[in-house]
Amino acid sequence: MNILIFGPNGSGKGTQGAVVQKKFNLPHIESGVIFRENIKKGTQLGIKAKAYIDRGDLVPDDITIPMILNRLQEADCKNGWLLDGFPRNVEQAKALDKALKEAGMALDYVIEIVLDRDSAKKRIMGRRLCEKDNNHPNNIYIDAIKPAEKDGGFVCRVCGGKLSTRADDQDEAAINKRHDIYYDTKTGTLAAVQYFKDISKQNGGKPKIIEVDGTPGVKEVSEALLAKLG
Ligand code: AMP
Repeated sequence: MNILIFGPNGSGKGTQGAVVQKKFNLPHIESGVIFRENIKKGTQLGIKAKAYIDRGDLVPDDITIPMILNRLQEADCKNGWLLDGFPRNVEQAKALDKALKEAGMALDYVIEIVLDRDSAKKRIMGRRLCEKDNNHPNNIYIDAIKPAEKDGGFVCRVCGGKLSTRADDQDEAAINKRHDIYYDTKTGTLAAVQYFKDISKQNGGKPKIIEVDGTPGVKEVSEALLAKLG
């Protein structure tokens, strides 16, 4: 089972991705997480990527595309994967499509979480990351996943772990830049989504396109998504 999940930053894509990952027991491959891990470890890749990420720019395709295509070759991806945060533009979509064809692989589902730009921005600014587990969602502006309070501060609502913010989550200019990329229907992420929608149309509905309204609460969105996944 090979799945792509799309949604603007702040749409709950990571949270819903975790739900999909659990349902199908797939490795959840998040390009942003791979970059952040590399930055933390101080690898060459991390050093190269950091400046772009801090500005809210895309890391160049010549770094990102091989990084993801190599990751999909690893042993845990043998029976499928859930790819999140990639592709982010048409060039990446084409590169993925080509690599899959060459490997004799196909996409099963393309999930799109649909959310307007203003709502997405507010959600980003409230997001908190659990330092223990990236799949523990916390957001100070969303009641359903509001962190627990402890000693006048917030801790992870799932495990009580320490929470942090991402520098690029608190930087409005960077958020706007990321959204400019996502909502760009010519060459950006929405163009990449359209690329797969066109393939699906030409290909008798394969991959299956699943559009989910991202405006309700986390639970409602998960339910709608799981119902469509069948
Ligand atoms: P995310 O965690 O998905 O919001 O990603 C954080 C940052 O990593 C993005 O703002 C980009 O700078 C970089 N990044 C993640 N995925 C990609 C990608 N597919 N192509 C280029 N840069 C990416």
